[in-house]
Amino acid sequence: MKTIGLIGGMSWQSSMEYYRIINETVRDRLGGHHSAKIIMYSVDFAEIEPLQHQGRWEEASRLMIAAARKVENGGADFLIICTNTMHKMADAVQKHIDIPLLHIADATAEKIKAKHLRKIGLLGTRFTMEENFYKGRLIEKHCLDVIIPNEQERESVHRVIYDELCLGEIKPSSKTQYIRIIDNLVGDGAEGIILGCTEIGLLVGEEDSQVPLFDTTKIHAIAAVEYALGPDYS
Ligand code: GLU
Repeated sequence: MKTIGLIGGMSWQSSMEYYRIINETVRDRLGGHHSAKIIMYSVDFAEIEPLQHQGRWEEASRLMIAAARKVENGGADFLIICTNTMHKMADAVQKHIDIPLLHIADATAEKIKAKHLRKIGLLGTRFTMEENFYKGRLIEKHCLDVIIPNEQERESVHRVIYDELCLGEIKPSSKTQYIRIIDNLVGDGAEGIILGCTEIGLLVGEEDSQVPLFDTTKIHAIAAVEYALGPDYS
């Protein structure tokens, strides 16, 4: 079994999910007392979040590269970054380490393509929904047709992520809001919805949507286990 490297803490609410899902998946596939071999570096999110909102991405990138090197030096065989947003600097991180980085958007796109879906709604932070590093990858590399909520809806999706979910607050009113936004994307033709922020799965689940939901936390965590165990255990 390969040792999985994680950069977490963005936020730790979702890192807990990664840790749980990774270990449960290893247990399910190998049985008995098996659990995952993990090296995790968990950041202080209060050092990261202001850099994101002030557009200080160079500094954020340097912090991510330093964290990735710690994980590599700790003995990880490969790396996952436990947040969609910070895949903005995925290429820069990969350039500075010798172990492979398993990209969250690639793992998610593979699941969507396996279901033969093409038009897909994307929820996430404003950075993830609006910028090219994520949406562009889905469109250009994976030939998906990606739609996002309108301006006002994007603002509320973003606000709920930072002001509630990253702080561990799960509010029924926000759940209702998200469900309405998902319904609107389905009304616009989305055949599936990417929960493109690692905390959204804490708020909504399959039962809240008429179309399949692609929870990036679950997909990424399971992809990491499959990579760690190799093809015999997929
Ligand atoms: N976990 C979130 C994501 O998947 C948002 C927090 C962050 O900005 O890293 O994008």
